[in-house]
Amino acid sequence: MQQIRSYKYRLRPNRAQTTLLDAMLRDFCSLYNACLQQRVEAYKRRGLTLRYAQQAAELKSVRAEDPDGLGRWSFSALQQVLRRVEQTYSAFFKRGHGFPRYRGSARYHAATFRVGDGLTLKKDRRIGVVGVPGGIKAVWHRDLPPDAKLGTAILTRQQGRWYAVLSVEADFAETCGSGMVGIDLGLNSLIATSDGETVAAPRHARKAQKAQRRRQRALARCRRGSRRRLKAKARLAAGSARIARQRRDHLHKLSRSLVSRYWGIAFEDLNLTGLKRGMLARSVHDAAWSLLVQLLRYKAANAGAEVLMVDPRGTSQTCPECGTVKAKTLGVRVHACACGCVLDRDVAAARIVHQRAFGLGPGHGLRCVSGRVAA
Ligand SMILES: [Zn+2]
Repeated sequence: MQQIRSYKYRLRPNRAQTTLLDAMLRDFCSLYNACLQQRVEAYKRRGLTLRYAQQAAELKSVRAEDPDGLGRWSFSALQQVLRRVEQTYSAFFKRGHGFPRYRGSARYHAATFRVGDGLTLKKDRRIGVVGVPGGIKAVWHRDLPPDAKLGTAILTRQQGRWYAVLSVEADFAETCGSGMVGIDLGLNSLIATSDGETVAAPRHARKAQKAQRRRQRALARCRRGSRRRLKAKARLAAGSARIARQRRDHLHKLSRSLVSRYWGIAFEDLNLTGLKRGMLARSVHDAAWSLLVQLLRYKAANAGAEVLMVDPRGTSQTCPECGTVKAKTLGVRVHACACGCVLDRDVAAARIVHQRAFGLGPGHGLRCVSGRVAA
């Protein structure tokens, strides 16, 4: 099935290229603001509403007059800036409030290109950008699909790092497994499955959280408005971006592995879990869970697998073997029932999720030992 997906790659421009890329965004930002201003004034003075086509018609001469500024950059990329103004304008008219604002160049982070026009993928696997001499090194951490059609590319700057986001149209043939699984969003682990797997939250995540708290304290000690505070703030932001990237990567792999093994994947309904537990450090877990469910949903949809949501109430209190309901406190890590069933607490809950979703337990009565695997 032909689909469009985004592939994001880290760029490693050299110092001279970085300077030029920064200059490019500054120029794009001033063009953006100038277009906005032109629209505002045309309306104020003459009651005219300027459209994209009118502004684009002027672009050629504007560029010719400014060879060391706007003239340096790709024509089609500059057109995209005008399109962006048009878009924010029509979004404003649709909303009826929130007039488009001028943008500070520190908050203007992205430029859109058409691949093959202004931005090219070179034979040496570098990325060529009009106005930036030499190819820009890219980290191709994963391959583009073999018969990919490339549409647009967005160059973006995030915490001082540059990325290229390529939109790719290709035939993404993905397959799912044949099993069914219930998943508990764990208390001890990140997730536990009804097949007895437990996947712990990666250790580097906990370490990173600790470092992040240290940076938070460092920020709190800095005087407001000081340079030191600005720096501490940047370090904090870079830290949370790193954590988010690592988490995303981990969850991508986890969801991929689940979809490749199962076609039916049942979860506790996240909107109802608040009823179930009042745990500490939930916000951290919550963010990971909702991202996992989101990634699973789209991977499952692509592969023809199914994600089901079940009522989470009492999943951790019910015995998956005999159905006896017995309350456990949060500290109890093992499910041990009078019927002889002994399971990891979260695995027992995952089995209940499985039963609620599919009507029967996995390998009912055969296995009662939980396993531990790495994600
Ligand atoms: Zn039991």
